[in-house]
Formats: sequence, structure tokens, C-alpha cells
Amino acid sequence: MIFDCHIHTKHFSTDAKMTIDECLNALKCNNISGIITEHIDYDYPDPAQFVFDPNEYFSEFIKYRSDSLKLGVEVGMQDLALAKNKVLIQNNPFDMVIAATHMVLGADIYYPEFYYDKSKETSYSEYFDAMLNGINKLGDFDTLAHLDYISRYSHYDDPYIHYSDYHRYIDEILNYIISNDKALEINTRLFDDEKAVNTIDEIMSVYSKMGGKYITFGSDAHIASNIGMNFKKASNIAQRYNLRPVYFENRNMQYA
Ligand SMILES: [Zn+2]
Ligand SMILES: [Zn+2]
Repeated sequence: MIFDCHIHTKHFSTDAKMTIDECLNALKCNNISGIITEHIDYDYPDPAQFVFDPNEYFSEFIKYRSDSLKLGVEVGMQDLALAKNKVLIQNNPFDMVIAATHMVLGADIYYPEFYYDKSKETSYSEYFDAMLNGINKLGDFDTLAHLDYISRYSHYDDPYIHYSDYHRYIDEILNYIISNDKALEINTRLFDDEKAVNTIDEIMSVYSKMGGKYITFGSDAHIASNIGMNFKKASNIAQRYNLRPVYFENRNMQYA
């Protein structure tokens, strides 16, 4: 069974639009399973954004938990939030924890301010540095989200991540994933764009050569029509490099 391991609903992710019913319906229509991974970004500049009460989450969504629907979380990594993130992860029965880099040096990289007066090399190096620092300090997570997140929002002529330009960061990140038995997400959000597919293809080829085995597929859907989007392309990459799609149940890796 294919799992979409990265889905947000409006009930607990402050930037999402789909209801749990729309989500369940879309999973059924696509004949796939799913993991809800609501956003928690502690210490976000606007304290009302990207937080939810995990007790409420489990009490409201526990009735939907099944073989084909799991309850996870997407945790935004920042030094300031580290202790709170660890407590959240340890104290709640998530099926899967996604580690994500949304904030770099205290700035949300969704907004253009982060890139002001910075070369692509500077902002992308800061981004990968934050990711590397984040995963090393957090440790307690299952899959690493969207390596190419910055390509969604930076405004450079060429926003793509070319492995050869950032290999010293990417190699270290991949090495961490491999030596700590984590999975790496293939996030399909940008996969309408073949250039974005090619950059991830290249990184996955390196991941496989270095000994990487496990990947999760994630649409990062915030609306129901995006669930399972471009999974055929993700699946082609997985097959090409002999990578094993997995999902998580009670924090244990399962073959999808
Ligand atoms: Zn994210
Ligand atoms: Zn997400």
C-alpha cells in the first residue's frame, strides 16, 4: 500500500484548508493510505501560528486512526525550540515524526526578507547549515522533510538545489540519515516542475550510492486535491535507485 506520509488538515495546521473528511475521501479516491502530520513550529514569530494542542489532536483524531490512517507530526527545528520539541515527541504517541527546516536564523524562509541582500550561495548555505544542526541536535525523528523546501520560496533566477554546489552539506545530511537509520522524504510538492524532479533525482542517486535505503513519499497537501500528487514520479525515482518506500506506525518503520 502506498502511503502519503505528509498531510495537513485545517483542524490542527493553521495554514491548511482541508477537513479530515476531505482528506479521508481523497485518500480513498486515490486508493492510498495516509499519515496526518500537523505543523508544530515552536517559537515561530507569531505565537498563534503553527502550534496545536497534542491532547486535543489525539482526542479528536484517535477515532480515525487505522491501518490506513496514521497520526504524526511535522516538527519545525530551531535551537530555541529544541527542548520543547523533544518533550513534545517523547510525551505523545505519534506514529511518525517529520523533522523540518522552515526557520533559518530566526527567519521564516517563506518570506522574502530572509533573502534580502544575500547571494543564493549564502542563503542556501545558511539553510543547509540550519538543517544539519537541527537534525544533529533533535535526533529523535523518523524522516527528514523536503530537502528542497527553500526552492519553493527563494526568488533567485535558478532556485534549484544543484548537488555539486551544496554537496558538502548534502553529503553530511545524507550520511546522518543513513547512519542513524532514518528515512528521507521525497516531497512531491514541486514535482510539476521537471527541473525540480531532476534535482531530487540527482540527490537520491547519491543517497543510494552512499548506502541510503529508506524513503517516505510526502505530498505536503494542505488541500485535498494535492493528496498523492506526483507520486508516480516519486515512485520512478525510488525504483531507479532501489530505494524502499516506508511509513511509520508507533514510531516503527514499516515497509509500504
Ligand atoms: Zn514543511
Ligand atoms: Zn508540511
